[in-house]
Amino acid sequence: MKLHILGCHSATPRSTVFPSSQLLEINNELLLIDAGEGMQIQLRKYKHKFNKIQHIFISHLHGDHFYGLVGFLSSLRLIGREKSIHIYAPVGLKEIIELQFILTKTDINYPLFFHELSSLESELILETDKYTVKTIPLEHRVYTNGYLIREKTALRKLNIDAVKQYPEIETWAYHNLKRGKDFVREDGSIIPNETLTLPPPPTKSYAYCSDTIYKPDIIPLIKGIDMLYHEATFLEMHKDLAVKTKHSTAKQAAQIAKDAGVKFLVLGHFSSRYPDETQFIKEAKEIFENVDIAEEGRSFEV
Ligand SMILES: [Zn+2]
Repeated sequence: MKLHILGCHSATPRSTVFPSSQLLEINNELLLIDAGEGMQIQLRKYKHKFNKIQHIFISHLHGDHFYGLVGFLSSLRLIGREKSIHIYAPVGLKEIIELQFILTKTDINYPLFFHELSSLESELILETDKYTVKTIPLEHRVYTNGYLIREKTALRKLNIDAVKQYPEIETWAYHNLKRGKDFVREDGSIIPNETLTLPPPPTKSYAYCSDTIYKPDIIPLIKGIDMLYHEATFLEMHKDLAVKTKHSTAKQAAQIAKDAGVKFLVLGHFSSRYPDETQFIKEAKEIFENVDIAEEGRSFEV
């Protein structure tokens, strides 16, 4: 699992920074999380293949989180997309997007599915054989969800040296061994799976929480995850603004990370009022050590 930051600033695009958008790379697939203006340009700039995106998750209906989406969907049509696209977003996004296609007489010629969200409880919204995606109910000025992505347990690894010691094990049996089954010889005797395979690599988990006020009741949902991206629009010196606009400070994001026992925290959604963004790290480190800041074009191994 790898996180690629396309945009991590609040409000408006500027000459060098972009509003919220990121990719989570998982098993050669790219999950697009939020689609702020300019995300297509960022995809091109950092050479991410459009074709690897099939699932798109939008946190809330503020422009800095989805104004790049309609352009992206339109481009997919122009470059001959055939595979389906699934969009998970608050109720209303479908209407917004479809109206633009109707009035511009744009014929979307690939399968496009909207999964509209309105629940105030966490829900499982996507399950594949490799991972699951759940919503994380957040609190902002409009209905907002974060997203929690968890890898499923991978297959066990073949211990080739061990397997080679048993000529009766042919390659057709490898599939079952990777799935944890014992090898049964023709005479009925058994070679236990543990002697032939190694444990699968540990599964990874990632949560995206933006935008939101300080909301400690998300902690049980994200307990012990490998990486948390949490918004930190403000520093503590502007805590009053954070309360008023329903955003968080770096210190509050760090407190969530600490209380949830996450392994690593990435801060983002910075307000443009701060010329030196290392201040966010400094403030957060007073509470939680394993923290860094997002930056356009930066990638983080989960
Ligand atoms: Zn925002």
